[in-house]
Amino acid sequence: MKNTQLEILVHYQDIDLMLREAEEVEKTLGFPIEGHEKLQGAKKELEKHISPKYLHTYQRLRTRYKRPIVPVQNDTCLGCFSKLPTYFKVRAREDQEMYTCENCGRILYWMN
Ligand SMILES: [Zn+2]
Repeated sequence: MKNTQLEILVHYQDIDLMLREAEEVEKTLGFPIEGHEKLQGAKKELEKHISPKYLHTYQRLRTRYKRPIVPVQNDTCLGCFSKLPTYFKVRAREDQEMYTCENCGRILYWMN
């Protein structure tokens, strides 16, 4: 992955998902679980390195999807499983731009 912003965003999403899971567990148990604060700290730290454009898009999509950023496999968005136009592949691998799925709007990233 050439786009470091996307790379950070993928990590950010991982932490975000872990945090939400931790919150669910806490709700069930009724007491805070260990490591929660650490995750929160890591999330804040990563936020500083994500450009506002990416962060804004992520947060907007987050209200709709559990995973706002999804990998592309065989030219297919793994969020909604629709086929992406071929020009996407060529451009997005080179660019530092943000690409979103035309069908579901999720942010896309290509794994090497
Ligand atoms: Zn999609």
